[in-house]
Amino acid sequence: KESIKGRLLSLKSERVSSKDWNGTDFPWSKKLESTLKEVFNISEFRPFQRATMNAVLSKEDTILLMPTGGGKSLCYQLPSLISDGFFLVVCPLVALMEDQIMALRKSNISAFMLSQSTPKDENKRAMMAMTDKKAPMKLLYVTPERMSKSKTFMNKLQAAYEMGRLACIAIDEVHCCSQWGHDFRPDYKYLGVLKNMFRGVPLLGLTATATTKILLDVQKILQIQGCLVLKSSFNRPNLYYEVRPKPSSQKEYLDEVEDLLKCKYRGKTGIIYTTTIKDTEETSNQLRQRGIKAVFYHANMDSELRSKAHNGWLDGKYQVVVATIAFGLGIDKPNVRFVLHQSLSKSMENFYQESGRAGRDGLPADCIVFYRLPDLFKVSITVFSQHLGLENLYGMVDYCIDIGSCRRSLIASHFDEVWESAECKGMCDHCKSPFQVNQINLQKHCLFLYQILDHASEKDTKLTSQKLLEAWFNKGPTALRVPNAKAPSISQEKAEAIVAFLLINSFLREDFHYTAYSTLSYIKKGPRAVEVHDSEILMDVRGTKIKSSTSTESQQRSTENEGNGKGPSQKNSDVMESKSKDNSIAKKNSR
Ligand code: ADP
Ligand code: MG
Ligand code: ZN
Repeated sequence: KESIKGRLLSLKSERVSSKDWNGTDFPWSKKLESTLKEVFNISEFRPFQRATMNAVLSKEDTILLMPTGGGKSLCYQLPSLISDGFFLVVCPLVALMEDQIMALRKSNISAFMLSQSTPKDENKRAMMAMTDKKAPMKLLYVTPERMSKSKTFMNKLQAAYEMGRLACIAIDEVHCCSQWGHDFRPDYKYLGVLKNMFRGVPLLGLTATATTKILLDVQKILQIQGCLVLKSSFNRPNLYYEVRPKPSSQKEYLDEVEDLLKCKYRGKTGIIYTTTIKDTEETSNQLRQRGIKAVFYHANMDSELRSKAHNGWLDGKYQVVVATIAFGLGIDKPNVRFVLHQSLSKSMENFYQESGRAGRDGLPADCIVFYRLPDLFKVSITVFSQHLGLENLYGMVDYCIDIGSCRRSLIASHFDEVWESAECKGMCDHCKSPFQVNQINLQKHCLFLYQILDHASEKDTKLTSQKLLEAWFNKGPTALRVPNAKAPSISQEKAEAIVAFLLINSFLREDFHYTAYSTLSYIKKGPRAVEVHDSEILMDVRGTKIKSSTSTESQQRSTENEGNGKGPSQKNSDVMESKSKDNSIAKKNSR
């Protein structure tokens, strides 16, 4: 039976927990059930749908957090049918509105939209219906721009409100209010006036973006602090999470992708996310040359080409779309079997949304990130000027360089959820084939890197991470090397992992400079440089493989490791100083 297992986050928590929002003894409960079956032809509510509807019909301001595909739209569509008047639905994309309206009209539900692309006479009919007591209109979809820019519309809405016809305001993709969300829309800010303007009309915010930070921001902007928050679990049990070391040459990377597409994903559809527009076109063309049906998609294409790419992919004409994050909101294909990240996402939030486009039909699907240190700087130069841009990116790096934790539990912590490792059931690389975790002390490495940096700054030279690594390995310009130093006895890959680790833990920092054509990231000593002389810096490294005969035990182990670090192809001889991993938690906390 449906039950609220997730957490109810609310400042009014006492009242919330004393009320069973999921109950079936509300005055409208029977009607709700029968309309579900008769009009929508759906046999059962999904988790949180009934609770949300009960809250809305009780005139509670509510925010519903539910992963994409969970069925949020129904939570306003259905209650509108058993209310007097109509529900106003604020929706960020015309394409999303069109899809819903088409489906609603098929079920004989009177729904309208107001947008620049709607025919004039339809606009007029919708405006009339707002204040017409006899009009059958149940749902009116508008863009946020319509609310913020059209006085005529807002006037009309005021009139409808005074007639008691405005039954609820639903705000879809409500995270667009917050600048911290992944698709901030300035016009959503204007929605902050609604609560005061339309007192007594419940607001319903819906989103698949679930961080507490964004949630609190949204409540503040909409002026519904402490409103009821219904949150369903964000775990997607059918998704398999994996991070692979990305080969340093594009050719080797493409070999690997080609192999995946032609063997494992033969006859299956998916997405490859890239960082830049140029990457989408290049990768798509290179895959085509290898006989793969690929198409690219980004924001700089004209809309006709874009929908051609999108539709071709929907129809199965293309096996894979190579896209920037412009391929986002409103992408709704149930049988996406893989989402590959050619380089890391801007944040864990972005990663969750992007990878979450896989497996919406509930069947197994793969989410694979190809990670390499240089990609970090490709992204960092684009996000450093944004609020929390670097912090968010480093969260993603932390996920990528982790060597032992259940990927699911790492994702969960970003949503302030706790997912038991048992829930993973081997559906991530670390749970599937666990390794022992050792620790190494990076103190000496870090001090040596500082020596290189000091040496360079004496010569008035700034070092990119690449130059830093070169100097470390006694390569590149002699002037940048530390005289009489030996190259370290570790692999390039391990060295890159160490630099990433030191960066995200503030022992190193990035320093950004604009040139005429680009932005450059240089490496400097970080704010924690002062600590290095007298404390160990412990980083997790991969030890020996844990035998599969003890898989239950090993799964448990791998979730106990809360540390990070990296080194998929590391041999034990790389380990400078091996310790028991008991205190790995302390290291994590040291961030
Ligand atoms: P979201 O907005 O949360 O991403 P949608 O509202 O677009 O999700 O719904 C996703 C799909 O789930 C739609 O095709 C919808 O018809 C379907 N759906 C919604 N609720 C139910 C339900 N209770 N049972 C079966 N299908 C449902
Ligand atoms: Mg939706
Ligand atoms: Zn796992």
